[in-house]
Amino acid sequence: MRPIIGLTHSLDLGETSISMPRSYADAILAAGGTPLLLPVTTDATVLAHYASIVDGFLFTGGDDVDPRCYGEDQIYACGEVHPLRDRYELALCRLALASGKPVLGICRGIQLINVACGGTLYQDLPSQKPGCICHGQKQPSCYASHAVQIAPGSRLHALFGDSALVNSHHHQAVKALGANLRVTADAHDGVIEAFEGTDGRYLIGVQWHPERLVTREENAAHKALFADFAAACGK
Ligand code: MN
Repeated sequence: MRPIIGLTHSLDLGETSISMPRSYADAILAAGGTPLLLPVTTDATVLAHYASIVDGFLFTGGDDVDPRCYGEDQIYACGEVHPLRDRYELALCRLALASGKPVLGICRGIQLINVACGGTLYQDLPSQKPGCICHGQKQPSCYASHAVQIAPGSRLHALFGDSALVNSHHHQAVKALGANLRVTADAHDGVIEAFEGTDGRYLIGVQWHPERLVTREENAAHKALFADFAAACGK
């Protein structure tokens, strides 16, 4: 049986349409999973139903998390925020964490998980972390642009080894780490690029977009990340 993996999605500013790049679903399909889009709702009963149906959760990329979700006012450099998406995903994330089922967060997804665990974010790296490298790459997403160092003993280390090359399309990042999380990859400027859960359950957040790297052969380890995730969801 293919594991069912629930995916979250983006919402437009008018909150009238939902969308998700195909690459997330394609990566899940290629890894042997069955992707299932979970349309936005804040109905607790429906969210609980979602959580009971799926075998794992993928929190996808998108715009910025509302700084109010971690107790800050917005700075000018903060991007567009979508309060409804935040409410839907934060509620679903708490259910996902409580369920013990595997969770993967990508880009906004790692940030969302961190906030759900009580952490905070840089609202804008260039203005709040002087001297950081470029995390908004100019090359296409299927090419890596910067290195990350990976923590020994982590799940990512088993897939990538001591370091990896990743793409980078974010101006926000994890600042204060939430509860029960451990940093498992960082860039040379100290920006947190991945974390994992500390309580033995499958919880990985990555700041890069592995689903966009998988089309190129040199990025095989990023493909292996999805295989690893799908396999964990199938257990
Ligand atoms: Mn980056």
